[in-house]
Amino acid sequence: MTTKTGCLVCAKELKYGEIRELSCHYCGEKTDTQVACVDGHYVCDNCHQADSLEFLETYIKNSKKTDPIAMLEEIMKHPSYNMHGPEHHYIIPAIFLTAMKNSGIKIIDNYWQLVLARCSDLPGGTCGYWGACAAALGSGITLSILKECTPLKKSFYGEIHGATANVLNSIAKVGGPRCCKRNVTLTAESLLLTLKNEFGIDLKATNYVCSFMRYNKECLYQDCPYFPKKAVG
Ligand SMILES: [Zn+2]
Ligand SMILES: [Zn+2]
Repeated sequence: MTTKTGCLVCAKELKYGEIRELSCHYCGEKTDTQVACVDGHYVCDNCHQADSLEFLETYIKNSKKTDPIAMLEEIMKHPSYNMHGPEHHYIIPAIFLTAMKNSGIKIIDNYWQLVLARCSDLPGGTCGYWGACAAALGSGITLSILKECTPLKKSFYGEIHGATANVLNSIAKVGGPRCCKRNVTLTAESLLLTLKNEFGIDLKATNYVCSFMRYNKECLYQDCPYFPKKAVG
């Protein structure tokens, strides 16, 4: 399981705030960023998610599972996944489209290419900076690919926005600070309901219980819906 938290280079605390131009510690690319560790290390989104994307592609090409919660649990525990980070943005469309394909639902052949193209446009930190967690936007990406929606389509345009609204509401109810594992799971649970109630697709899923709290400095513990109840008190 991942133990990576904080700065990927030195594990010290990350600071969010003023915009600075910094070079990525690994590839050297310069960019304006609002996040770096207390020692000034910055890691670009590409370097942050490189290994996890290779793993995710292999995982979905080989998985025969139809339970998205079981899939996200296995994926988030893989060592290529950090505690937090934009690599989490790809999980929802990757696992839901795969689970539906494995359930016999027709999914466009090149869906992984579409997931990659769309999710790589989503930067880290949109939860706190845009008011829309990018993992939640993965539910719209999933449904758009499922129904081959475009900006010019009448059908499903409204439904995919409604699905995103549902997910954002469930994330809003829990509140901050951010936890990428929690938001991916909240998104999965909301999307399971939307698929069942509005698209007639009933994917059976297990219940999720978190095992990451000791790696998350900002964990909500008992206030998180996925905190293991047995551990309380
Ligand atoms: Zn550092
Ligand atoms: Zn880089």
